Amino acid sequence: MKRTGLAILGTIGGALVVLTAVVVGRALMLDLPPPASTATRSAPASAEETARAASSLSEAIRLKTISYQRGLDSEETRASAAALVAFREFIASRYPAFSRSTTREIVSGYSLLFTWEGSDPKLEPVLLMSHMDVVPVVPGTESQWTHAPFAGEVADGFVWGRGAIDCKGSLIAMLEAAESLAAQGFRPKRTIMFAFGHDEEISGLEGNKKIAEMLAARGVKLAFVSDEGGMMTEGVVSGIATPVALIGVAEKGYLTIELTAHAAGGHSSMPPHQEDTAVGKLIGAMTRVGDAPFDSAIDGPTRAMLDAFAPAMPFGRKLVFANLWLFKPLVTQIMQTNPGTAAQIQTTIAPTMLKAGVKENVLPPEAEGVINFRLHPRDTMKGVVEHVTHAVDDKDVKIEVLPGAREASRVSNMKGPAYELLHKIVAESFPDALIAPNLTVAGTDSRHYLPLTDNVFRFVPLRVTADELAGFHATNERVRVKALGEAVGFYRALMQNLDDPALDSHSPG
Ligand SMILES: [Zn+2]
Repeated sequence: MKRTGLAILGTIGGALVVLTAVVVGRALMLDLPPPASTATRSAPASAEETARAASSLSEAIRLKTISYQRGLDSEETRASAAALVAFREFIASRYPAFSRSTTREIVSGYSLLFTWEGSDPKLEPVLLMSHMDVVPVVPGTESQWTHAPFAGEVADGFVWGRGAIDCKGSLIAMLEAAESLAAQGFRPKRTIMFAFGHDEEISGLEGNKKIAEMLAARGVKLAFVSDEGGMMTEGVVSGIATPVALIGVAEKGYLTIELTAHAAGGHSSMPPHQEDTAVGKLIGAMTRVGDAPFDSAIDGPTRAMLDAFAPAMPFGRKLVFANLWLFKPLVTQIMQTNPGTAAQIQTTIAPTMLKAGVKENVLPPEAEGVINFRLHPRDTMKGVVEHVTHAVDDKDVKIEVLPGAREASRVSNMKGPAYELLHKIVAESFPDALIAPNLTVAGTDSRHYLPLTDNVFRFVPLRVTADELAGFHATNERVRVKALGEAVGFYRALMQNLDDPALDSHSPG
């Protein structure tokens, strides 16, 4: 080997040593944040309070406030309406001190807005949200439940039933916390509002959308909104042994496109080439859309989430996460291989419906396909339609946006006083947890309040394992009784710590 070759090798070797030192050094420098000070920790729920919360939730689950697909008018929807009325009567009787301390407004017949007026009217109100409605149990799966879905049984340390984690658990925890404070004569300095929608599972158009419009007409600005989204997860984030509190700081948008392919119909015995049939054109168009993924990147809330995870990772992963400047392409690639993490970094493409043909030996003149997109905050509805039009590139395929589309939400300030406060209360209520912001990939009713505030945080303070999360909209939905008690403590601490004027979204400071 010649001298120059050796010199180059030496230089490369030297660079590698430096690179390795930087990469390892950055990983070693990462430290977990110190545990939260306990100075302002408010009392966690007592065993008695926890048991009471469990029996309240049990009663709430027995009220079958089911949201069915829109447009159904049946005995079932009338039964749900009656259950919603019973639910508000249940709140009035189970929470007398809360009911005396607040004013209640009924919106669109069933949704509820409670206002607990603060002593300082100059402070912007805070809005705590949950919803009263639940999704149906898929007919035929009832027998797969360990405890009947609407019996509200308390067994094996759990409260079982539809709505336990989505979303009656947090609703009950809020009410138990507020009831205990009101009964002690507590009055908040800052007004606290509670919005309990009755139609969240079918988009909240009659409930929270109307409440938000009503508040907007009154000129209300909200300091922040707290709604469902992230949770206190255990064993859900791979590589992290400690519980992880995920606070949703943004929410993806929603857009559905219908593709309609046209071609000459006719007898199936003398078909044209498949790509000239309506079905063939549709298949081609849908395949091209699926093969044209949207840009993906680790940025915004997802970047902040990975930064928060990094110190708790085993060394090998810590090495990678601490050096995203170097490993970003690799991490992006890995995240793309898993649907859960892929949804965090890009707009997703989901073909959901197909319709064509009336008979096996007739070529249909028309074929329809539906694709549902969940928009990453970096993409816009207009951009998605352009992207799809470009991918389809066929004048015989009509592209139509279906109703109900919406942009992704803004990203709430992850460094502002409202996030800081939430972070602090989570840290104090769950000292063992790692706290991270994230992007909520499903829709929540909080989006209706975006015109009223810059700060929406999507977090339910209920501890759930991956197994328990599997009950979400599915079989064996349940919540740990202990988790319910922790949530009561969380909401109580939150309600007691809202005095700081800096929380106002329009505060001068
Ligand atoms: Zn929900």
